[in-house]
Amino acid sequence: MKERNDSQRALIVGLGISGMAMAKGLHECGWDVTVVERAPERRRGGYFVGLFAAGKVAAKQLGFDGMRNRAPKVRDNYALGKNGEKRRGLGFGDLPGDPWLVLRSDIENAAYEAIDALDPKVDVRYSTVPTRVEQDGAGVDVWLKDSSDGTESRERYDLLVGADGVHSTVRKLVFGPDEKYIRHLGYMIVASQIPEDLPGLERGQGATFAEAGKSLWVFPFKDRPATVMFSYKADDVAAEFAAASPAARIREVYGPRAAPQVKAAIDQLERADESLFDEAVQVRMDRWHKGRVVLMGDAGWCLTLYSRMGASTALASANLLTAIIGQRRGDVEGALEEWEARSRPFIRHYQKVGARNRAFFTPAGRAGGTARALAMSVFKRPWGRSLLASFVGTGRKGNGLMKSVIPARGRISSSRPRE
Ligand SMILES: Cc1cc2nc3c(=O)[nH]c(=O)nc-3n(C[C@H](O)[C@H](O)[C@H](O)COP(=O)(O)OP(=O)(O)OC[C@H]3O[C@@H](n4cnc5c(N)ncnc54)[C@H](O)[C@@H]3O)c2cc1C
Repeated sequence: MKERNDSQRALIVGLGISGMAMAKGLHECGWDVTVVERAPERRRGGYFVGLFAAGKVAAKQLGFDGMRNRAPKVRDNYALGKNGEKRRGLGFGDLPGDPWLVLRSDIENAAYEAIDALDPKVDVRYSTVPTRVEQDGAGVDVWLKDSSDGTESRERYDLLVGADGVHSTVRKLVFGPDEKYIRHLGYMIVASQIPEDLPGLERGQGATFAEAGKSLWVFPFKDRPATVMFSYKADDVAAEFAAASPAARIREVYGPRAAPQVKAAIDQLERADESLFDEAVQVRMDRWHKGRVVLMGDAGWCLTLYSRMGASTALASANLLTAIIGQRRGDVEGALEEWEARSRPFIRHYQKVGARNRAFFTPAGRAGGTARALAMSVFKRPWGRSLLASFVGTGRKGNGLMKSVIPARGRISSSRPRE
């Protein structure tokens, strides 16, 4: 095993896309990296993720090479009518920027493969959570609890990264309660991989069904059955979580006269190994770092799937921060300041896009449904493409902002001696 003298030490909380991207980037800068994960083992499941330019570039620079694009060769997407009739429509793969269509687990597997191969090893500890954080000018003390045996420890680090998702514990411990930062968008999400292709839709065909207050998106892959996402408006979120199961609630919301493909998707949801059932929220913060503690990904700025940039911004932002840390050779606080200044306009842009585009995913009411149908008919035409690009945030403005989060010369080599 290689020894690294004089290394700085980082603790990363969360073994998701953000946490693993930070682990890989910091290790490359010569840091000793520990990751703690609340779950007893690495998760394998996941839903559909479209990876756009910022995410693709960052994944490449971080060396997450094991990912494959599952986008069907031919884009074949339909809008479904009330009785299941199919009309040509727009799907995720039609969005400008030629996104890679993958499962979240594809990104996480590629990231894990990359960090698992590192020498010296990244110390990954499962069933472990932070319970208290204190910092002074020189470092951060973190109290950790291992729930597998009940032991607690206090450890000192040069940097603490909260990459622990939208309900981040690090955010609560260091920045304050959820109420200060969580913005409720008034929608619920149910997402799942489904075991079989849906009737009437061949492998690789995608579909959307949208009416006032509810929608279904069928995200196609070339090499496996689609994933489905139901999104519906909800006034009383607490009541939503009282449902017997996600499928039971979806059956209720979409009603007995739902289109046949919607009914089939609900049947499959019932048989799926796992599904995500959650409220759509954004995290809005004026600062993502305090001293030597930084929030990364959904913990700091959850954009929601309506922006379709959560994974891409997590990868891009972790790649940028660790590149700056490498360049600044130990000036952690200076690096965090520079990183915030460079990444905030880009992320803020997609936060606005996400909040606005929930109505594109799921029209709020009848008028919204009519406006959406009109917009779709424009976006489908060749001359509507640039309007679509602006609408989803990848027009001139989005592309301009993206440049600020891509490190100019690719990955920065180690700032610490490796032996
Ligand atoms: C249905 C759906 C579709 C999406 N589609 C897209 C898309 O098309 N494109 C896109 O770019 N993004 C998409 N996203 C968003 C994207 O998936 C997320 O932004 C991204 O996965 C966030 O990664 P993360 O690592 O920041 O957080 P998470 O994935 O939430 O990971 C956090 C990790 O921290 C762990 N953890 C939590 N609390 C603790 C604790 N106290 N201690 C230790 N560990 C803890 C968790 O177990 C988890 O492993 C979508 C999201 C959803 C829900």
